[in-house]
Amino acid sequence: MPAELIDGVAVAKLVRADVARDTDALVRGGVTPGLTVVLVGEDPASAVYVRSKEKACVEAGMKGETIRLPADTPQAELLALIDRLNADATVHGILVQMPVPKHIDPQAVILRIAPEKDVDGFHPVNVGRVWIGEKSGFAPCTPAGVMVLLERAGVDVSGKNVVVLGRSNIVGKPMVSLLVAASATVTVCHSKTRDLPSVVRGADILIAAIGKPEFVTADMVKPGAVVIDVGINRVDDATQAKGYRLCGDVHFASVSQVASKITPVPGGVGPMTIAMLLKNTVRAAAQELAAGQAAGTA
Ligand code: NDP
Repeated sequence: MPAELIDGVAVAKLVRADVARDTDALVRGGVTPGLTVVLVGEDPASAVYVRSKEKACVEAGMKGETIRLPADTPQAELLALIDRLNADATVHGILVQMPVPKHIDPQAVILRIAPEKDVDGFHPVNVGRVWIGEKSGFAPCTPAGVMVLLERAGVDVSGKNVVVLGRSNIVGKPMVSLLVAASATVTVCHSKTRDLPSVVRGADILIAAIGKPEFVTADMVKPGAVVIDVGINRVDDATQAKGYRLCGDVHFASVSQVASKITPVPGGVGPMTIAMLLKNTVRAAAQELAAGQAAGTA
């Protein structure tokens, strides 16, 4: 029997409606949550992401601003801009779109953003807060979105064997952090994993995030498993007007015949990422407001 589809577009819409409600409450209290995205250079894919982030902010009633800098902007200039945004009380979330040009050290950029405004959740302070279960920490948007998708799909991860395929800092590792906090039994696979198919076959829930088109095939999936496909890959396809199609890290046609639930690509995890970015930003604004009020009454 074909798997049930987990509809990321529908779930993202619900999250964005929640965000709009929370934003409205903050605006009525005198604070408009604000996200500033910094884009260095003219990478076309990054430009598309940045435009959709700005649009989503405005739709949720938030202030969405994009600062575009030329590709040859010196690192010191970018860091000075981050310092100014850190000090700007109308900016609650700061995001520097990755990848940055080669002459800029991405880690220096991440470290410069105040952890309270790091809505991407990449700053080591937030990584640590999420790992130890401190609620004020911001989790990276894509794995946080996966957790919401699982929850809304009625998938309880507690006690389940979850295999995370990939160990990047932006998806795989924070995914592990959130799953462990939710009491899953987690195995992480990467390029050095021995006999990967047999490890993956042990998963009740499989989260694929390796950036290899249609890597996971039906023979690697336990019948009835839940499959979340984080991958977004472009593959050449002469039958498409654009000359390519998007696909995930999972071979959807075959895996959807053995899984119990599955996310499509596109329309699965992708839409959740921006929704969770908005959620983190509105929470950053609420946390800052609460901290200000606490300081005022101290
Ligand atoms: P990275 O390239 O940073 O990491 C890939 C991970 O997969 C690494 O840990 C790597 O192992 C592992 N890996 C690569 N090849 C293999 C293999 N053949 N067997 C086992 N493990 C392998 O990718 P990201 O985490 O940034 O992204 C993963 C995918 O998710 C991409 O398709 C990306 O486009 C997508 N993505 C989607 C988002 C969304 O919004 N839906 C957001 C972010 C990413 P090792 O560490 O050993 O090298």
